[in-house]
Amino acid sequence: MKKTILLFFVAANFIACAQEDGAVNPKEVQRIESVLASDDMRGRRSGTPDIDRAGNFIADEFGKAGLQPLQGNTFLQSFSMLRPKMLSLKYEVDGADADTKNVIVITSETDLKVNEKSGYQIESIAQGENIFQRAQMIVNSQKNTIAFVDNSFAQSFSKLMYFKRQMFKSPANTIFVLGNQPKQYTIKAEHSFEETKYANVVGILPGKSRKNEYVIFSGHYDHLGIAREPVNGDSIYNGANDDAAGTTAVIMLANYFKKLGDNERTIVFAAFTAEEVGGFGSQFFSKQFDPSQVVAMFNIEMIGTDSKWGNNSAYITGYEKSNMGEILQKNLKGSAFTFHPDPYPQQDLFYRSDNATLARLGVPAHTISTSKMDNEPNYHKVSDEISTLDLNNMAEIIKAIALSSKTIISGADTPSRVKTESLSR
Ligand SMILES: [Zn+2]
Repeated sequence: MKKTILLFFVAANFIACAQEDGAVNPKEVQRIESVLASDDMRGRRSGTPDIDRAGNFIADEFGKAGLQPLQGNTFLQSFSMLRPKMLSLKYEVDGADADTKNVIVITSETDLKVNEKSGYQIESIAQGENIFQRAQMIVNSQKNTIAFVDNSFAQSFSKLMYFKRQMFKSPANTIFVLGNQPKQYTIKAEHSFEETKYANVVGILPGKSRKNEYVIFSGHYDHLGIAREPVNGDSIYNGANDDAAGTTAVIMLANYFKKLGDNERTIVFAAFTAEEVGGFGSQFFSKQFDPSQVVAMFNIEMIGTDSKWGNNSAYITGYEKSNMGEILQKNLKGSAFTFHPDPYPQQDLFYRSDNATLARLGVPAHTISTSKMDNEPNYHKVSDEISTLDLNNMAEIIKAIALSSKTIISGADTPSRVKTESLSR
């Protein structure tokens, strides 16, 4: 009996070690990358059935890793975007027809009729204000609103059409009217909509003690689809580096932290859709959180090639905007790995990836990357294939991310918030 029990313990211990090691190694990188970046995925273009296959694979991996859904009973976080087409517009002031060029209706309703008695919030954008910034705030407020825009903006007024190019389905309507608020008015608008369905893939490991404090690991799993003209007989944008690499890291970190099983804070693992077409996936995802409860976001973009400093190094975008980079550095002390500040600040990478939405809300949300933005020959090309990646280095980067986040996961460290007033866009 004893011998068997002893053997059992030895075996169990052996399996536990093997699994922990198995969570982050080049073989595992290879396994996940070769699915996500395969020709079968046809470039994972968001809004097509091709990306659904990738989404289902990631959801499956999250399930096997033992994550829980963030909401409901699925890892797929679905949402729709609308492209509106205006069919008719009528604007009446004191019973007489007025110029419809002075009205922009942003709505998800096919038939909308609004007048001064509709109970809409009334706003005004005054001369000298930043019209675009104010308009953005009004649209984001998610309240039925009519905003009267000062006549000094007559030239730029039509640019507010930007807000209805592609938009989230919303129960709230926003109407911009150029000119002063009339006593009596009626606005009638008819639209048709082209709807596109998207899905992020999101799973969590609930924290042992600080359940409402979230640490996010993310990457985007969409890419560019199929090229119109083949290049050397290849037309599939495999996106092995951009950003199957980041998605692979997210899946491997999910396995790593589940096996570790000691996270005091809740860890959120997210694979975003629609990064390449406007960042809609991370925008929708960000709306599901109270930003004050998000302690840190590690967004991972293009870690498949060596950085400009060679192996065992990566950079952090917006390094100076919080002290998160310093915390990560501290936790890497004694390892062979170094994080650097972003060496390409003129490229505005901090604002160009999925960390930006939460960073604008004050969350220490940074992107970790190794991409040589001045010299990355396969960037956004059909040649971004798994054969161009350094899988060993990738495994080291993923280990370094895991190690560097240790004190944030445990609650010992809390990065400083991003000062939103210091952001340039
Ligand atoms: Zn990318």
